Amino acid sequence: MKINRSIRMGIGVMAIAVVASACGGGEQRSALQSASEGTLTVGIKYDQPGLGLRNPDGSFTGFDVEVAEYVAGKLGVTPENITFKESPSAQRETLIENGEVDFVAATYSITDARKEKVDFAGPYFIAGQSLLVQSDNTEITGPESLNDGTKLCSVTGSTPAQTVKDRYAQDVQLQEFDTYSACVEALRNGAVDAVTTDDIILAGFAAQYPGELKVVGQPFTEERYGIGLAKGDDEARAKINDAIDEMIADGSWERAFNDTVGASGYPIPAPPTVDRY
Ligand code: GLU
Repeated sequence: MKINRSIRMGIGVMAIAVVASACGGGEQRSALQSASEGTLTVGIKYDQPGLGLRNPDGSFTGFDVEVAEYVAGKLGVTPENITFKESPSAQRETLIENGEVDFVAATYSITDARKEKVDFAGPYFIAGQSLLVQSDNTEITGPESLNDGTKLCSVTGSTPAQTVKDRYAQDVQLQEFDTYSACVEALRNGAVDAVTTDDIILAGFAAQYPGELKVVGQPFTEERYGIGLAKGDDEARAKINDAIDEMIADGSWERAFNDTVGASGYPIPAPPTVDRY
């Protein structure tokens, strides 16, 4: 009787352990494991022209998409075996931590705060925060021109929203939406005066509405775009860093840029140096 009970308890403990690891309580799965099985799930943006865009026909285009496909290729996965998953700014760490994506390529700035939860390969691009306004706006010319009457839109969980809170909180009325396309709609219909995020993102929207929207001022932060992946997945991170190096060295990086963001008129910068921290 006594023995039976301890066996039952033992089985119960084992069952709990199995459930815990299946729910992500155990070791996080490596992106390389998915790749070795022939598929990858990659987090991108769906609404950022030139960077990560889901087209009406269901296809995906943009510089982040090109980077993701090149990296996947170096891990042995062909484009048709990539499943893209929409990854809004505020959800990126969680999607990685929960194992819902193998990696994220979504205008994702490498920051120390994010590195507490995820790791980053890269950077594969360096952008800077800027401002988007209606073309006929002559009052907003840069961050120093923002005042307490300015309605400024940015995205929840993004570094530009955080920078506004840290540096310009006194000056503006910050409105945070889930996506930049929602901010751009608010700008077009006059609900907000300006949108702030990385210049390369804003350039894509300005190109979508020529003569209606413009990017103003000089970039006032440095946003180093990395590929986010599970914390501690060092082997995958090293392989992705190698892939980024190769993408730059073999001319694919420049070609991908010209085919995507290049159309907006955003000048191609020098490629960054991968940081193997
Ligand atoms: N690069 C910035 C960030 O990671 C802004 C762009 C975005 O929200 O995706 O927060």
